[in-house]
This record gives sequence, structure tokens and C-alpha cells, in this order.
Amino acid sequence: MSEPIVRYQDVHKSFGDTEVLKGIDLDIKPAEKVAVIGPSGSGKTTIIRMLMTLEEPTSGDIIVDGTNLWHMEKNGSMVPANEKHLRQVRGDIGMVFQHFNLFPHMSILENCMTAPINVQKVEKQNAKKRSIEMLEKVGLGDKLDSYPDQLSGGQKQRVAMARALVMRPKIMLFDEVTSALDPELVGEVLEVIRDIAQEGEMAMVLVTHEMEFARDIADRILFLDDGVIAEQGPPMEVLENSTNERLQSFLHRFR
Ligand code: ADP
Repeated sequence: MSEPIVRYQDVHKSFGDTEVLKGIDLDIKPAEKVAVIGPSGSGKTTIIRMLMTLEEPTSGDIIVDGTNLWHMEKNGSMVPANEKHLRQVRGDIGMVFQHFNLFPHMSILENCMTAPINVQKVEKQNAKKRSIEMLEKVGLGDKLDSYPDQLSGGQKQRVAMARALVMRPKIMLFDEVTSALDPELVGEVLEVIRDIAQEGEMAMVLVTHEMEFARDIADRILFLDDGVIAEQGPPMEVLENSTNERLQSFLHRFR
């Protein structure tokens, strides 16, 4: 058994008086592909935003590649464990959002080059080479000098993926990356994710409403319901054989 690359231990998260995560325990192995499904508001996005350190837990531990991201002060507040470690951990994780979040004033090549140069201190020519390779991989080798507003939604999302991948993360997070796309553009984005998944090296956590897709690429599906992992297991087990009534009624909406 390999050590998990990610471990959540009894993680709770409240916004004001509302507890949205109510004790999450979760280990993710290196190269494991995990799909997170569940009703809107169940806490899916919050789980992955915490991994990206965009939110801090209210209590509990989140350990990435052996580093605990937060620790609790005597007064009960959570603080980043150690800035240096945190920077390193952030470098291990890439995230793609629902709304692309590209830099509008930069060409797509520049969008990809900026983080390797500024964060990883990669030399410019090398960053350029890596970025071109990655943009070719997502099928945008002919658009290097285009600007985001000249691209379709599907193309923008593929740039966002290349931009995350160029950092060579150990873990990729995908937060409903097809939800904002016109239906005819969903396939091309899923296809790219499928290719990345098949290469196999990275752990991937995908929040998705695409059940067929989750079934195809995930090693494990988590059903999140009201802030807890209510069911988890291999895709067939979760999607076909679960007796959890809440899960069945959730899945019914996709049939
Ligand atoms: P999901 O991704 O499953 O739709 P989220 O993780 O986005 O769920 O949200 C879970 C709950 O937490 C929702 O009720 C949402 O309104 C609330 N929430 C999320 N982020 C914030 C925030 N920054 N401030 C207050 N409430 C939030």
C-alpha cells in the first residue's frame, strides 16, 4: 500500500453558524482518480477549495504529501502550517475552475508561461517550450497567440487545463469544469481530461455532474450529502448497486 498523497482527518468547515462539512475522512492515493458527486450545496466545492488552501478548515487535519496544511492556535483559529511548506504544497496542486479564470490581457501562451516563470522560477525559454507542448496536447497548438476572448468556452477551458498542467502538479482538481459550457462543447473538454487521466501519473479529484464520465474514468466515486461522505466505492458499486436512498434519488435525476 502506498502512502496517501492526500489525507483529510475529521475535517469540519463552517461558514458563520452553518456547518457545511461535518467530519470528512478521506485518503487519496497517488495517481488515484476520485470523482465527487452530490446535490448542490452538499460541500463538494468546499472540499477541493480547502485542498488548494483557498479555504481553511474549522477543525481537523488536511495533509498533502506528508505536510499538514494548517495547525490550530491556542485560541482555536487555524493558521497555515508553514509558509514555505505551503508554497511547496500549492505547487503540487493544479486546479481548474468552472469559470476558466484566464488572464484576459495575455495571449494563451503567456497565460500558460506566467506561473512557471514567476512561481517556479523556470527559465523563460524552458517555460515557453513546456507551455507550447502542453497547449499542443490540449489541441490548441495553432492558437498560441490568440487572446482568451477570441476562443470558444471549450477552448478556454482547455487553455485553463494546459495552464495548470504546465506546473507539473502531483494532484489536479477539477471543479465542475463543464458546467458553464454550451452542451456541444462539453465533449471536447471531457476528452482532454480523459487523456490526462489515462496517462495515469497524477492524482485527480473531479467534482462533476457528468455521471457517465465519472463512471468511465474514476477509480472511486464519493457521494457527498449534507456535508458528509454518505457513500463511496468503485463506480459500478456506487452508481448501480448502492442501497442508499438519498443517493438513489440523486441519481434518478440523471436518468
Ligand atoms: P457544492 O459544491 O456541493 O454545491 P459548496 O461547497 O459550494 O457546495 O457549498 C456548500 C455550502 O456552503 C453551501 O450552502 C454554500 O452556500 C456554502 N458556502 C460555500 N462557500 C461559502 C462562503 N464563502 N461563504 C458562505 N457560505 C458558503
